Amino acid sequence: ERLVGATADGEDSAVEAALRPKDLAEFVGQTKVREQLDLVLRAARARGATADHVLLSGAPGLGKTTLSMIIAAEMGAPIRITSGPAIQHAGDLAAILSSLTEGEVLFLDEIHRMSRPAEEMLYMAMEDFRVDVIVGKGPGATAIPLELPPFTLVGATTRAGLLPPPLRDRFGFTAHMEFYEPAELERVIHRSARLLDVTIDTEGAAEIAGRSRGTPRIANRLLRRVRDYAQVRADGVITREIAARALAVYEVDDRGLDRLDRAVLDALLRLFGGGPVGLSTLAVAVGEERETVEEVAEPFLVREGLLARTPRGRIATPAAWVHLGLTPPQQPPA
Ligand code: ATP
Repeated sequence: ERLVGATADGEDSAVEAALRPKDLAEFVGQTKVREQLDLVLRAARARGATADHVLLSGAPGLGKTTLSMIIAAEMGAPIRITSGPAIQHAGDLAAILSSLTEGEVLFLDEIHRMSRPAEEMLYMAMEDFRVDVIVGKGPGATAIPLELPPFTLVGATTRAGLLPPPLRDRFGFTAHMEFYEPAELERVIHRSARLLDVTIDTEGAAEIAGRSRGTPRIANRLLRRVRDYAQVRADGVITREIAARALAVYEVDDRGLDRLDRAVLDALLRLFGGGPVGLSTLAVAVGEERETVEEVAEPFLVREGLLARTPRGRIATPAAWVHLGLTPPQQPPA
């Protein structure tokens, strides 16, 4: 597992429960989403109704699970958590749906990875609060209609564009979660430090925030590693210097690039003069699989404006040369 990876690892799962904001007011950032959701939930509460289905889209670690728990808490409703890959058969979904209580929130993570038959069952459940359970096979099969209590589906996906339009259209409210600004991540870090009983100053928090790739999960993870360092090599207090020294040990640089990211950039700049170079060649040069370079390293490098994918191959931007402290060739490739 990468220290700067956005998906949860085993240690995260254990600590994250303790660090999760419990209501909308505590949830940092995502101002627009928070305001819109607040209106949706308040209106439903005032009507004494179950909230509309909510679709949350955004990269891993931005707080989709947290927000779904907040929706349940704000509605005073219980929550059931499952995921698309866990629902292989329509029957799996029918079992979950038929056991929901009135007003319950069903959180369906990675909703784009549900099986087709389950997805079709979900359409009807979302719209009419009803499912047809098919009993038997072939010509003798019969559909037994089953009434469901009204519930709120909260679907999460990394990209709303991956969802079939009929599914997307059945959500009353869609929220797109953005990466967090450094100032917002600083607030996440201060909040987590308080909960973890760690002393951190303003600059220490800023230092960690700047390396967290816009992602609260990464910010919380880096905070824990820096805390270890502060405890073992210093007096436990996190300052800018301590944070920088700790993250140097873990090879996370001041922009949040790790060893793999830097190896890719370094090869692109030093071996190929900044490109263009093909993905396969670049992968061989850093001794990694194509997929690793393309799916693990490149997305963040592209997002940071350090690397561009072009039809002729990968190209480094001027910012990449600056970041690695190198001088671009006199005649930069067109
Ligand atoms: P995944 O899709 O990988 O499950 P996610 O988007 O559901 O990720 P969460 O599990 O909700 O992400 O959040 C990851 C961690 O980041 C949690 O520990 C949570 O407390 C923290 N976090 C996320 N968003 C916020 C926020 N807005 N304010 C404070 N903490 C946050």
